[in-house]
Amino acid sequence: MAKVKYYYDTKTLNYQRIEKTPLDRVKNILIYLGVSVFSGVIITIVLIQFLNSPNEKRLIKEKSDLISQYDILKQNLNEIDLVLQDMQNRDDNIYRVILEADPIPSSIRKAGFGGVNRYKHLENMSNADLIIETSKQIDVISKQLYIQSKSFDEVIELAKNNKKKLASLPSIQPLSNKDLKRMVSGWGYRMHPTLKIKKFHYGLDFTASTGTPIYATGNGTVEKVKYTRFGYGKHIIINHGYEYKTLYAHLSEYNVKKGEKVTRGQVIGFVGNTGRSVAPHLHYEVLKNGKKVNPAPYCYNNDLSIEEYDKMIKLSSKENQSFD
Ligand SMILES: [Zn+2]
Repeated sequence: MAKVKYYYDTKTLNYQRIEKTPLDRVKNILIYLGVSVFSGVIITIVLIQFLNSPNEKRLIKEKSDLISQYDILKQNLNEIDLVLQDMQNRDDNIYRVILEADPIPSSIRKAGFGGVNRYKHLENMSNADLIIETSKQIDVISKQLYIQSKSFDEVIELAKNNKKKLASLPSIQPLSNKDLKRMVSGWGYRMHPTLKIKKFHYGLDFTASTGTPIYATGNGTVEKVKYTRFGYGKHIIINHGYEYKTLYAHLSEYNVKKGEKVTRGQVIGFVGNTGRSVAPHLHYEVLKNGKKVNPAPYCYNNDLSIEEYDKMIKLSSKENQSFD
């Protein structure tokens, strides 16, 4: 009920009732409504600040779930990245080395996208950093995977084509280990047996009894079967193709003819002491592109154990006298 208001009339010395006009009443109602609406809005704002509606609660939970899922996704991506790096290392350091292909430069493997900002459309999203970072990682992995897959195509093709090459390259010791007396002299400067001066020795000398079988160290064609009184004595040159040749010197007898096709492990001749030689031995040379190279690394695929091979490599690098 509205309050009745009075005022003190100094003329009549009495309290007089204040009569409200309809306009006053309307004003009062409007003020009352205004204050109510205003208070309501303030209270609602305060409540919204401290209390979330069920809808908001659901959205907040969804957001936190999404962030957790992104974190899991990121961990998975990191694991995929590690597997990919391992594949890239094996590709560059094993497969491509065996097949004599150049490693893929890391500038190509790790090449970015450059130029335009591919992630501009993501920048206005909430949690943009997380989404952009993850998108970038997926893009980089996808690109590296594509390069790796292309590389494997090339490696498979090389391996197919190199089946013949791998069979042709010199890769065994020319004498069986059981027939060896010792690997006397290797690649490098050695005291010459007859000249008694230090001369560069361009091959490996293996001592063995006269008549010990000598094996072709890779598939190829006999290019030369020749006797010289000095120097190599009775010797054979095999052309393996792929710019590789091998030379076997100081033989007692030949077991092949010029032009004959030979396969790895085939007996091509026998150890002797012909030419400039101080004792029965095999002088073995490997030529790549016409240049003599150290044959020791080309003896890896034979009946030597790893220790024996290691010993052979050590012996071949020991400074001593060559048998020439
Ligand atoms: Zn020699």
